[in-house]
Amino acid sequence: MSYDGKLLARARDELDRIREKNAAERTRRMTEAYALRPELRLCDDRMREQMTELVRLTLSGGEDAAAKIEALREENLALQRRRGELLAQLGHTSDWLDEIVSCEKCRDSGIYRGGVCDCLQRLYNAELTRDVGVLLKNGDESFEKFNLTLYDDRPLPGGSVSPRETMKKVLSSAKDFADSFSVGAGSLLFQGGTGLGKTFLSACIAREVAEKGFSVCYDTAASVVGSFEAQKFSRDESADARVKRMLSCDLMILDDLGTEMPTPMAESALYTLINTRLVEGRSTIISTNLSFGEMEKRYSGQVCSRIRGEYRLLPFIGRDIRQIKR
Ligand SMILES: [Zn+2]
Repeated sequence: MSYDGKLLARARDELDRIREKNAAERTRRMTEAYALRPELRLCDDRMREQMTELVRLTLSGGEDAAAKIEALREENLALQRRRGELLAQLGHTSDWLDEIVSCEKCRDSGIYRGGVCDCLQRLYNAELTRDVGVLLKNGDESFEKFNLTLYDDRPLPGGSVSPRETMKKVLSSAKDFADSFSVGAGSLLFQGGTGLGKTFLSACIAREVAEKGFSVCYDTAASVVGSFEAQKFSRDESADARVKRMLSCDLMILDDLGTEMPTPMAESALYTLINTRLVEGRSTIISTNLSFGEMEKRYSGQVCSRIRGEYRLLPFIGRDIRQIKR
């Protein structure tokens, strides 16, 4: 996985803050414990002195060094026991005053076995996911708030199933997708007219998936094309980082497919995004007002056949909710 330098720096800053917070908490504990049991401070001071003595004895290696080291060890064990008793009197475990780390694996260094530790990766994903903020502008998108009663409970002319029945299934599929999301969860196509809740449901999924620590990216088709163009023609660094993120995030939400300008560049950018993510087994949610027929007129067979063959279709039907609400 390649990292966006700016985002990685922000993730590391966050790790610094975690370290500072832990250090401050440790200082607070020491102040409290030393005030209640001053003997604890004496134990700690003496144990530090012992460390220095131990180093000196080991380096000097004089005749009686071994005996002195042994005596030091005995004294140290006795001090540790006494320290444990004092802490127990205060109702704490013997490691209560030790260094506090949030991640045992890397001890908050962010590096594990020469690579990025899971904890730093999670912070990095959180930075990636800030993008989703654009989508989650209301901040209250949740499946519970998806109002099925806004959809007719009678079939539309010529249909046999009511919009409400259809949307009930769509809602439950979207929920399942978010609940069980993992890398390789497959891709979804939200298809249907304007104002039927496509963006709202994508936001619900984005929120849940992001909260699980996966990286989520959101963008409209027009803006995706803009980023690819900027990357290609102006060698814009932030566009380059953005394109890489769209290609490599765990879940990409491509909103409003079909509202971008129909140019060869747009076709190529969208094909690259859709195809690369499919080949690498990454999930994408596309929402569009276009029917399959309209898609075929607009895009090459390659783009259409990939979407048709590999995406799970969730059809949004009904009347424009925004008009009904008014
Ligand atoms: Zn870690």
